[in-house]
Amino acid sequence: MNNKVWYPYSQMQLKESRYTVVHAENEYITLDNGQQLIDGVSSWWAAIHGYNHPELNEALSEQVNKFAHIMLGGLTHKPAEDFAEKLVQITPKGLNHVFFSDSGSVAVEVGLKMAIQYWSNKGEKAKCKFVSLKKAYHGDTFKAMEVGDDSDYQSSYNHILNKGFYTSIPKGGFNPTKDELKEALSELKSILEAHSSEVAGFIVEPIMQGAGGFQIYSPEYLTEAKKMCSDFNVLFIADEVATGFGRTGKLFACEHAGITPDILILGKALTAGYIGHAATLSTDIVYDAFLGSTYEEAFMHGPTFMGNPLACAVGLKSYEIFEREDYLNKIKHIETQFKVAFSDYQHEEVHEIRICGCMLVIETIHEECVNDFKAYAIEKGLWLRPFGKYIYATPPYIISKEGLELIISGLLEWFEKK
Ligand code: PMP
Repeated sequence: MNNKVWYPYSQMQLKESRYTVVHAENEYITLDNGQQLIDGVSSWWAAIHGYNHPELNEALSEQVNKFAHIMLGGLTHKPAEDFAEKLVQITPKGLNHVFFSDSGSVAVEVGLKMAIQYWSNKGEKAKCKFVSLKKAYHGDTFKAMEVGDDSDYQSSYNHILNKGFYTSIPKGGFNPTKDELKEALSELKSILEAHSSEVAGFIVEPIMQGAGGFQIYSPEYLTEAKKMCSDFNVLFIADEVATGFGRTGKLFACEHAGITPDILILGKALTAGYIGHAATLSTDIVYDAFLGSTYEEAFMHGPTFMGNPLACAVGLKSYEIFEREDYLNKIKHIETQFKVAFSDYQHEEVHEIRICGCMLVIETIHEECVNDFKAYAIEKGLWLRPFGKYIYATPPYIISKEGLELIISGLLEWFEKK
């Protein structure tokens, strides 16, 4: 390892040990020393089919032999048109327009810009702030940081971030009490009552905040919050970069609540971990506000690699496999296995265990409880990387029975040996 690559979220001086991958197949990562690790995090939730999937490889090579990239400025191509068509078909009804970009953070920026310009095109320039959930994480670019609330990523920039408003997610997880729900909704309502004249949108990760503390909350909250946003003329933006494509047990987490957001953001699993790509979808109401006879109303944004044909080809094939192989059923099975092993689990160092679809998080009582966990996991043949005081598993949906059992037993043993 050298210091030419500047690694993510790293204090480079600490020279964190890093493992060199030479091959990856299904749920297995092979290191240069020959060791095989089971990937328990799907390369940050993206590699939902595991690695080296023959059909995805073929879709890519078929496309690369036609053309690897063509700009969407003044040109178009079938992979982008077909993929947009498919996304409109599978996302909650009413999201009829797809703006492609190259990463989740950029897709969030696009969503936020769309919301701001939607209101300014309607003559409401004051509506340019956002409400988001406490502890939220929506990416590392500037506007994404502004709607985030996570000191781990943002503290060096706090002095220049133009922050909006933050509201608590309801306590009580997926099934809060009436009082817990009421309390959270009235907090949101009082923010909207006081500030809706300056608020463009309410952005959430529906059902589960991933990097923002792995919090799970209720569908009822989403349904009511969406209604409230309509009442107060505030756009509802769902960031499903992490939750999209099955992670919470539904194809999209918004489906738990039966809602259609005004703007939906997809990334990560969109392209199955093959190529960075993302999409921001909008309803007709949002899209129509950009129509006009001049460029002043138009959405003046255009990433060079938007709608990259390789990304679109692999995204299309990825969804075809997802549907054909009934991944939602596989996810249900993984969720059940997690629940059987962990629902009643108690340990003095464990504060709470949360399970939602193909995601398990063990919130320990303190960061020190996960010291040395990574090395322990590697010894056990597992690639699981704790994050703050959380140990989490978000395996590929194709994980084998044995692979899943090894993740579960590895996690249980870690606490048992303490
Ligand atoms: N939104 C959410 C909810 C995310 O989890 C992430 C990535 N962790 C992003 C946005 C940003 O995506 P990217 O890393 O592709 O820029």
